[in-house]
Amino acid sequence: MRYWLFFVAKLAVVVAILRGLWWLMAFLIPQPGGRFAQDLPWTTAIFLFFLTGIGLVFLAVLDQRYRCRTCLRRLRMPVSTGSWDQMLQFGRPKMEYICAFGHGTLDVHQLRFAGREKDGWRKHDDDMWRELESLSGSEK
Ligand SMILES: [Zn+2]
Repeated sequence: MRYWLFFVAKLAVVVAILRGLWWLMAFLIPQPGGRFAQDLPWTTAIFLFFLTGIGLVFLAVLDQRYRCRTCLRRLRMPVSTGSWDQMLQFGRPKMEYICAFGHGTLDVHQLRFAGREKDGWRKHDDDMWRELESLSGSEK
């Protein structure tokens, strides 16, 4: 729930930025009879406004994709797994990102057979750092 509220908050910031940009455009560019497709400065400004809006939404979605679903921190430590040339033996190539606080792992597939596939978020129930320490302790 917190994850999606954070995304909505980012979109609200994007809307506020775009609203401010629109006011700035209305302040700086002289008012003609018609704005879009009738006046070249306004048409150009609206085109750039549209691209800026799409870019900001894209950045918000991209940032959200690589955040921990529990604590909202950026995911860290990308590790490439699988193999491009021995896929049947070692699995499909993918990039794994983990939350530094052990909340979960995000699997981002590098190869997509069926178009757009969802990234796999695996939540860690137990503290994975404690589990890792116990594994390294058993080798001694
Ligand atoms: Zn986390």
